[in-house]
Amino acid sequence: MHKSEELFTRAQKTIPGGVNSPVRAFKAVGGTPRFITKADGAYIWDADGKKYIDYVQSWGPMVLGHNNDKIREAVIQAAANGLSFGAPTEAEVIMAEKVAEMVPSMEMVRMVNSGTEATMSAIRLARGYTSRNKIVKFEGCYHGHADSLLVKAGSGALTLGVPSSPGVPASVAEHTITVEYNNIDSVKAVFEAEGEDIACIIVEPVAGNMNCIPPVEGFLEGLRKICDDYGSLLIFDEVMTGFRVSRGGAQERYQVLPDLTCLGKVIGGGMPVGAFGGKREILTHIAPTGPVYQAGTLSGNPVAMAAGLAALEQLQDANLYEGIFAQTQALADGFAKLADKHGIPLTTNVAGSMFGIFFTEEKRVTNYQQAINCNTEQFKKFYHGMLEQGVYLAPASYEAGFVSKMHDASVIAATLDAADKVFGSL
Ligand code: PMP
Repeated sequence: MHKSEELFTRAQKTIPGGVNSPVRAFKAVGGTPRFITKADGAYIWDADGKKYIDYVQSWGPMVLGHNNDKIREAVIQAAANGLSFGAPTEAEVIMAEKVAEMVPSMEMVRMVNSGTEATMSAIRLARGYTSRNKIVKFEGCYHGHADSLLVKAGSGALTLGVPSSPGVPASVAEHTITVEYNNIDSVKAVFEAEGEDIACIIVEPVAGNMNCIPPVEGFLEGLRKICDDYGSLLIFDEVMTGFRVSRGGAQERYQVLPDLTCLGKVIGGGMPVGAFGGKREILTHIAPTGPVYQAGTLSGNPVAMAAGLAALEQLQDANLYEGIFAQTQALADGFAKLADKHGIPLTTNVAGSMFGIFFTEEKRVTNYQQAINCNTEQFKKFYHGMLEQGVYLAPASYEAGFVSKMHDASVIAATLDAADKVFGSL
């Protein structure tokens, strides 16, 4: 680990915390983050040459596995024609058509450069369209780092937002109402009190930022109904779930259609891309057709579009998803069985190719409170044990795990062999 240690020490002198995104710094698990030199399929290699089975997959984009040959070739070809024009290209049109065809509720789409931009823009559009200021989000859901979304819950469902980050003015945070995930009554109560002022509900249709928590039956349907009753917009943040929990995302998997959808990660094939879109009636309110301003110098970048299109083209096949889902289930079941064998309380959640492992006595984890009550000390030990064994999990217990097409039966078996040893040592 010499090289990663050296690089981390050096990085901290000129990069805050040594990293360009906080979770990478290993603060939650301790120790030295691994500096990565290359990735291929289910694997990544660190600067010291150690190989790991990777369940982070760049935090979700790599549903086809790392270094997919078709995506790589598409990027090389596009780059040969120039990196950015700041003018429209055919690739953007094809991308919009493809997204509209794949994601059930999306009639129109605008490309951006990150998930944060997608959610920030969708919120602005919802506010502009409804002429209302307040938004509802869920405790434990992450939607990027735009000011109004960096608000976590107070103690009760009706509590007004308090800034969870210095730098977010209270005057911004007060428009964000935070309620409990998977608790439709907490949403109803808020709407009964101030529904006429609420522009939108934004939700991760499968929560992937408080570990992995799928929606309980009726939750997403309930949100749809409340939004319809009060004239608010329902926004699905499918930055993680889009093209991952099914070809058409969570809205296809759970058969609930939002008004607006945010996309990121998979849609860029690994390049920095996001998108937001939805009903034509709403999308025509953004500039230049409407008054809600939204723009981007590098939006729809030709190299990024080429990568994204090469990814989406390979995701047309329903059998491909069935295969990845089966491996994800096998992995989660394997973890549960091995933990049981070693007498370690563990619960797992699975949604398509996303999974979560919770060190807890609870038989079912469906909310933020349960997620944060898990045994983080045990997770840390498990984390470092797995890392030592060559398995790279997300370096924090509140993150979902991701399985790709390249995680075949032998990769899953090798992971479970490692887990058997590590559970045995806890
Ligand atoms: N929404 C969700 C559901 C996410 O998981 C993330 C990032 N993990 C974002 C938004 C923000 O995306 P980005 O990091 O690309 O800004």
